[in-house]
Amino acid sequence: MAKMYINGEWVDAQSGVTTEIRNPSNGAVIDTAPSGDARDAAAAVESAKNAFKAWAATAVEERARLINKGVALVKEQIKDLAGLLTKEQGKPFMESMGEINHFLHGMEFYAGLATKVRGQQVPLPPSMNPNSYGVIMKQPVGVCAGIVPWNFPITLMGTKVGPAMVAGCPIIIKPASSTPLTTLKIIGLLNEAGIPPGVLNCVVGSGSTLGEALVKHSDVRRVALTGSSETGKSVMQLAAPYFKRVTLELGGSDPMIVCPDADISKAVSGAMIGRYWNAGQACLAVKRLYLFEEIYDEFVEKLVAKVGRYEPGDGMSKAEKPFIRMGPLHTAAQRDEVEAQLKDAVDKGAEVLVGGNRPDGMSEGHFFKPAVVANVNETSKLVTEEVFGPVLPVFKVTELDEAIAKANNTEWGLGASIWTNNMKYANKAAREIQSGMLWVNQLHFGYDEMPFGGIKASGIGHEHGPEALDYYFEPKSVVFGGLE
Ligand code: NAD
Repeated sequence: MAKMYINGEWVDAQSGVTTEIRNPSNGAVIDTAPSGDARDAAAAVESAKNAFKAWAATAVEERARLINKGVALVKEQIKDLAGLLTKEQGKPFMESMGEINHFLHGMEFYAGLATKVRGQQVPLPPSMNPNSYGVIMKQPVGVCAGIVPWNFPITLMGTKVGPAMVAGCPIIIKPASSTPLTTLKIIGLLNEAGIPPGVLNCVVGSGSTLGEALVKHSDVRRVALTGSSETGKSVMQLAAPYFKRVTLELGGSDPMIVCPDADISKAVSGAMIGRYWNAGQACLAVKRLYLFEEIYDEFVEKLVAKVGRYEPGDGMSKAEKPFIRMGPLHTAAQRDEVEAQLKDAVDKGAEVLVGGNRPDGMSEGHFFKPAVVANVNETSKLVTEEVFGPVLPVFKVTELDEAIAKANNTEWGLGASIWTNNMKYANKAAREIQSGMLWVNQLHFGYDEMPFGGIKASGIGHEHGPEALDYYFEPKSVVFGGLE
């Protein structure tokens, strides 16, 4: 049975309650995990609070050394960890390897930044004192909570742990209650490197009990949530009375625009990986595809042919053979939701060009054949809701203004892409598309080096990049006056 990690020790939930963690490919129980509540949140916060002063005073070189040592320990076990991630989350083994490697790259990126944090010295006008000057210090905010969803449990844990540790903040990670196992193993390995007790904790339980308790705890000064826009609203409301710092990385409905001059085969690959990676369960997945009429038929024909070759299956079954395939959806409810969204579009006149049904003889897992859908009414749920599964609506457009207007006609604003070799088109898209990120001739991907975040209902603040570090520091303005 898996345990939580609090104050350098493996512990059960104080209630003693546990939850079964099941494999989405076959329903088998992989392990049980504790189902923590407010008491466990309080214990983790207490240990983090006690660790804060010494951790903030630990030399930055030492903090970086500990992270790098932990990274090395994770690398040694990467294949076992990737297998476990596939079993609890469902994604193909190759994608699990990719996710853990992305996590390691991000951790190394932040370890490298540890010695490069800079404050500022500011010249001041002489009116109050002729010899005054200002210094902007960067001080760690204090105890942080990182709340993580089930779709990329490891990378999205790392985007919180890396900057928090480098900034000198203790952190408590809460994974989604259905994907705690690989996270706990990795948190254990990072701690084995010698991180002091209380600096890096992991508690497991539901969002509505344990998650809320962490957000409401008065000693947690900062909450980084990755999750749905609805959860983001709740977390922001819960944090408001305490004036907590929040970063909210939320849902998306990313548009992809393909212009007449684009490299069609590269764009088809971009749409394929963009929409169907992780069985479409990605915040920055391509969720709406806008094709210029000149290339619509050619593009759709190529896309449908490739999508038709996907073979949904157990992510471990082809572990050594990384060709096109897809795991199950993470839960039965997730598949039901995608099916309902597709049915709504079909009821409003849409045509399913390929896929969109459950594969025969695979009823033990939450499998679903990836779909491409045409003639989708703009009022359909496939357009108005976030579609967290492998269904891609395609639309024909006649000019860029129309494509951009449709791309922007959404409550979300996470990412977007344009595929063109025409600089005028690319520039216009960069200026006018309402999103936190824009890719030109490039797959929707979150680089560790670039700030990552959305606008509108996609959230507040950024992760990734040196910019993310600033969210774990409070700038303190110190004025030195009267120094004759
Ligand atoms: P979710 O919002 O249901 O859960 C996310 C996490 O929040 C889980 O750990 C959950 O237990 C916790 N939680 C839920 N309610 C809470 C509450 N009231 N207080 C505190 N914690 C609470 O999301 P999910 O279904 O796990 O993940 C899918 C969603 O995440 C999608 O909307 C997706 O777009 C989004 N997402 C966003 C990004 C990004 O970077 N923008 C990345 C990945 C996923």
